Amino acid sequence: EVTVDFPGDTRVMTVSNQKGGVGKTTTTVNIAAAIADLGGRVLVIDLDPQGNASTALGIPHTADTTSIYDVLINDVLMADAVQSSPENDLLFCVPSTIHLAGAEIELVSQVAREKRLDTALREFLDTYEQPFDFVLIDCPPSLGLLTINAFASADEVFLPIQAEYYALEGLSQLLGNVQMIQKHLNPRLRVTTILLTMFDGRTRLSQQVADEVREHFPKEVLASVIPRSVRVSEAPSFGQTVISYDSSSAGAIAYREAAVEIVKRGSSRKKKGRN
Ligand code: ADP
Ligand code: MG
Repeated sequence: EVTVDFPGDTRVMTVSNQKGGVGKTTTTVNIAAAIADLGGRVLVIDLDPQGNASTALGIPHTADTTSIYDVLINDVLMADAVQSSPENDLLFCVPSTIHLAGAEIELVSQVAREKRLDTALREFLDTYEQPFDFVLIDCPPSLGLLTINAFASADEVFLPIQAEYYALEGLSQLLGNVQMIQKHLNPRLRVTTILLTMFDGRTRLSQQVADEVREHFPKEVLASVIPRSVRVSEAPSFGQTVISYDSSSAGAIAYREAAVEIVKRGSSRKKKGRN
């Protein structure tokens, strides 16, 4: 059994990639569940109107659920929207509902529209009864105001990359956006973590993509890769992560290994004295 230390600071990571279907949501919920399994307190913020992260964490998110929409648009306290996951008592989620689909437009006319999530999250972290070790924000695929709010709130960008032919396409755009956010909204933001998802060890293509990504980002890419696995894709239909749905499956093992790496690496800001 692996033991890891949680140093007591809160690492806020936004799980982002402008492509859809690369494993953002799957990575968010499974890394969150794996960190909770290691003894860390984790908050998932579901910032995608589709609400898939909420579903996978077993969190009710019908139209009348108090959600991240109310936090962003109606000044509801995040503490009043947070729910605990039935899966693990260290795992929490601020759910998304279908109302969030309208938030992209409604935010446009709001004061401090890029900073609303950051303000709400800081207030929450400063006042909630117990501290969190990690906050993971599941982003929608577009660079709209929701994603910009996530970038403005986070210290770290966590980039899942699908091991397929077009994997690197659009990445320079994402890195350009991160630079723009650093300059104008959030100087703390860094791309710290890259995870290869849906890896198929039988194909040379997967291996080539992995090699290319490692060449470009030698420090950021995790050693663990997530294999393509049916257990991973069927877990959400049971309202579970693969960590609880089938903890001995290849996908669960890979996500647990990736989580250990993330926790052990520490945040980029506090690298001194740790590996
Ligand atoms: P995104 O949030 O980037 O749009 P998702 O996490 O929703 O991507 O994943 C897209 C699809 O791929 C989903 O149907 C999901 O179940 C499936 N998927 C993700 N990771 C894996 C994996 N390791 N093995 C098999 N299917 C996966
Ligand atoms: Mg998603």
